[in-house]
Amino acid sequence: MSNRPVNFGAGPSALPEEVLAEAAKGLFDFAGTGIGIAEISHRSKEFTACVKQTEELIREQLAVPPTHSILFTQGGGTGQFSAVVLNLVARYKLLHPDVANPDLDYVVTGSWSKKAVEEARRMAPTANVRIAADARTHSAANKFDTLPPADAYAFSADPALIYYCENETVDGVQFSDAEDGEGAFPWAALPKTGLLPLVGDYSSSFMSRPIPHLADHAVILAGAQKNLGPAGLTILIVRQDCLVDVDAAAALGAVPVPVTMAYKTLATSGSLYNTPSVLPLYMTSLVLERSKRLGGVQFYAEQNRRKAEKLYAAIAEGEAKGKLRAKVAKSARSWMNVVFDVLGEGEEAKFVAGAEAKGLKAIKGHRSVGGIRVSLYNAITEEQTDRMVEYIGEYLAQ
Ligand code: PMP
Repeated sequence: MSNRPVNFGAGPSALPEEVLAEAAKGLFDFAGTGIGIAEISHRSKEFTACVKQTEELIREQLAVPPTHSILFTQGGGTGQFSAVVLNLVARYKLLHPDVANPDLDYVVTGSWSKKAVEEARRMAPTANVRIAADARTHSAANKFDTLPPADAYAFSADPALIYYCENETVDGVQFSDAEDGEGAFPWAALPKTGLLPLVGDYSSSFMSRPIPHLADHAVILAGAQKNLGPAGLTILIVRQDCLVDVDAAAALGAVPVPVTMAYKTLATSGSLYNTPSVLPLYMTSLVLERSKRLGGVQFYAEQNRRKAEKLYAAIAEGEAKGKLRAKVAKSARSWMNVVFDVLGEGEEAKFVAGAEAKGLKAIKGHRSVGGIRVSLYNAITEEQTDRMVEYIGEYLAQ
């Protein structure tokens, strides 16, 4: 280990050092070809093998069933805010040609799901974009600092899409990994429509722990730049009934779908319809190989739970002393993005400067909400988490 600072940033974020070292070699010579990874053809057999292998590593570690395809694309989570609407509205059109304005159900639990709703309204202006639940209405401060109770969700009987964000990166709000109880996703309240059009934004929690009810999802989406690799790669897990002929849907009146956004195009071309993000894919494959060696998502689930518990315990100590305040209700707290306030005039700046001086970097909260945000993605080790906990202890002792 070098003595680089610890990067607790929310994304792009820390990557394992051994992967950085390996990738540096790959920049000069990828897979023994003598050609660097940023230079090699995306159609070379070495790179197409890398794409296949990345897919297999995800399939194996997340236990993705054969009903679902794993696709790689670009445009980030934001690109998918648009693409899921277009693809799933097209699917609905093929299933129900006579329904002019389908229901699109959104669960709003933070800034990112709120953005997804706004994009749905742009992409499908005639659809009935509904809020199935809004966490703010269950918050004393009318903020994204809690999750709706199980009985607060009102889904449509047969929506074209049901959308939720598993981990809200800005607000530090995450559904629990439990089947039910406080903070759990309302699995039992979902409509009984057969194949659910359920879409999960896993941008900031992908590969950090198993995905509950993965097989029930129509689409799981994630940018690579938190737990997996550099920005520029977007990963999709799409149930095969959602790989629809978007042109046939357009002929029935649905909105045309840009060819690179159509899930079917991605699937039939093996994610190589056009030039993919070659370098991010390669680095992601290195991260996933390493993760497999360590024990996969099960290993990370245990480690990430311990890391989060330690950090929240340190914040609780600060609360007891009247110096810190956790921003999120206990049952809604994220393992990945831990957010809190430092109380007292000028104290936040002092806290950040003290952390920086110890090489603990990038802990300022998102500009829209302020405060402190410490991101504990997979590449942050327990030892690095302990350094942050230790620093909080020192700060509180002052
Ligand atoms: N969803 C979530 C949960 C995110 O954290 C982010 C990015 N931080 C996005 C969507 C948007 O992703 P991108 O910046 O890759 O478009």
